[in-house]
Amino acid sequence: MWLVTGAAGFIGSHLVQALLARGETVRGLDDLSTGRRSNLEAIAQSPGAERFAFVEGDIRDWGVCAAAMAGVERVLHQAALGSVPRSIADPRPTHEVNVDGFVNVALAAAEAKVAGFVYASSSSVYGDSDRLPKREGEEGRPLSPYAASKAADEVLAQGYASAFGLRAVGLRYFNVVGPRQDPRGAYAAVVPRWLAQLAAGEAPVIFGDGETSRDFCPVANVVQANLLAAEAPDAAVGRAFNVGLGDRTTLLQLYTLLRDGMAARGAPCAGLEPRFDAFRPGDVRHSLADTSALREALGWAPTVSLAQGLDLAMDAFVASGA
Ligand code: NAD
Repeated sequence: MWLVTGAAGFIGSHLVQALLARGETVRGLDDLSTGRRSNLEAIAQSPGAERFAFVEGDIRDWGVCAAAMAGVERVLHQAALGSVPRSIADPRPTHEVNVDGFVNVALAAAEAKVAGFVYASSSSVYGDSDRLPKREGEEGRPLSPYAASKAADEVLAQGYASAFGLRAVGLRYFNVVGPRQDPRGAYAAVVPRWLAQLAAGEAPVIFGDGETSRDFCPVANVVQANLLAAEAPDAAVGRAFNVGLGDRTTLLQLYTLLRDGMAARGAPCAGLEPRFDAFRPGDVRHSLADTSALREALGWAPTVSLAQGLDLAMDAFVASGA
């Protein structure tokens, strides 16, 4: 059995579907704080849904984590509070979920002697390092409580791997894109937020001059990395790897792709110009993954391009009527 924490979230729900598709039995744990019941409904309509069981619970509760681990062989730990701005506005919940909750899930996994423990880290651990592309071992200082929480998780995972033999592998996701990303709220990621605005004919806001760049990675490639990391060879245990496409896209380029893609799907946004606002504190200027370590250690290779990933995200957004 596999345990996916954050199963009602964007990435977690894709992981559950991929595991069910290959015949696995999956338990999903989520407190539905930022996750959505609609993601659970999507899982319920997937092939193999009868092999999925959902547990509503909070990873800050040790008892919940210990109980969720019963009979589990592999863990994909995704539950966390995302968003750099959220962590700056209200740092304590980010710490409690992303660090204290991480400790609960990881120690419960170690006690249960699971065969694989994969956890979501983040490209934000590169912090103020301005080297490009970002390479494992060249981290800078964290620029936000969110980045600090993910960096702390990586250190804890190393300690647990050494002391308890936890077969922990961290995955530093760069900006993940795909169907079912949540467009709601002040802390929504850029792609779903812009899709919602473009669909309504409202001009999205670009923070900064539009030359800020990111390595946007379709979620299918992230799923693939998780499945490989859960069965990682000894040499990969205790390490954390970049997961991105290795391509850099500026916010202005992304804007044009989404605006034109949504206009082609009938949204009232043809030729719509973006609005510009000040840079946000804590945001890094450029982000680009060197993925050679992940390729070498786990044999990973991306199968979905950014254009395909954005098409899937736009198609799903339009189909959902959101
Ligand atoms: P998401 O918000 O859609 O999913 C996170 C899930 O965790 C949600 O369903 C939420 O309800 C759940 N959760 C939060 N607190 C919880 C708690 N205390 N107990 C149980 N469940 C809880 O976000 P996502 O984009 O799917 O992110 C998944 C993971 O990937 C997170 O760890 C995030 O930090 C990391 N990550 C995401 C990206 C990205 O681009 N989406 C980039 C880097 C890292």
